Amino acid sequence: MCGIVGAVASKDVVSTLIEGLSRLEYRGYDSAGVAVNNSNGIERVRAVGRVAAMKEKIIDANLKGQVGIGHTRWATHGGVTESNAHPHVSKDEIAVVHNGIIENHDEQRSRLKELGYEFTSQTDTEVIAHLIHHYHQNLSLLASTQKAVRELTGAFAISVISVKEPEHMITARLGCPLLLGLGDGENYIASDVSAVLSVTRKVIYLEDGDVADIRRDGVTIFGKAGDEVTRKIHQSDVSLASMELGPYSHFMQKEIHEQPKALTDTIEALIDDKSFYPALFGDTAKE
Ligand code: GLU
Repeated sequence: MCGIVGAVASKDVVSTLIEGLSRLEYRGYDSAGVAVNNSNGIERVRAVGRVAAMKEKIIDANLKGQVGIGHTRWATHGGVTESNAHPHVSKDEIAVVHNGIIENHDEQRSRLKELGYEFTSQTDTEVIAHLIHHYHQNLSLLASTQKAVRELTGAFAISVISVKEPEHMITARLGCPLLLGLGDGENYIASDVSAVLSVTRKVIYLEDGDVADIRRDGVTIFGKAGDEVTRKIHQSDVSLASMELGPYSHFMQKEIHEQPKALTDTIEALIDDKSFYPALFGDTAKE
């Protein structure tokens, strides 16, 4: 299971993206990458292996930008190579990160090749970048992403940036987890709350079929039918320490040793002065 992260701010976001990707490392991955949208257009750094290896390349390249996306990949289509690592770029104008699988990638690839697109990876993801690019010739980034995702089957959480609209990013989900992190004059997206906890605790969990427009001054969410929708804002109480490996050598070992505490914490929220709340026994117990 890989992870995605993205940020739109008025300061450089690259270190936030790297930290977010490091926090997603526990999900497992084989390569990582970051793309930013800055005054030079889209710039990206990708590396096979650890986020730390990518970080070194980012420092060497002096990558900077106020709008950016990052990815840790768990390869499903195409080998573990730098050219298959995300973000994927279309015609130097669009960059996309994607978690999941596009089932109709073969037919989309054939169609996009006929439209003149050249493929530089073996991934299913690259069709998303070209498809959005294709529609973005005449439509806004939001409208072209909405149109493209309706033509994709499978499961995805994606985030997209465009040179033509450098002030924002668009994100969409179907069947893969995705949340928005709400900051002050800056906003984020991530697969998992751990990736944004160092910058905000205010999060919105997107629903299947949602497409969201992420800007510095706010986020706008559109439902499956394309109409604007409101989603609940949660205050996350997950502690950053609980996300860290601590004295353990891997996350499975940590989970095993923390079972008593996890049970105690869970039950604690379901006990009043004298007894358990019926909710402890699931929804049916309430009836
Ligand atoms: N299917 C995509 C790929 O192989 C994304 C995999 C993932 O979720 O990391 O590149």
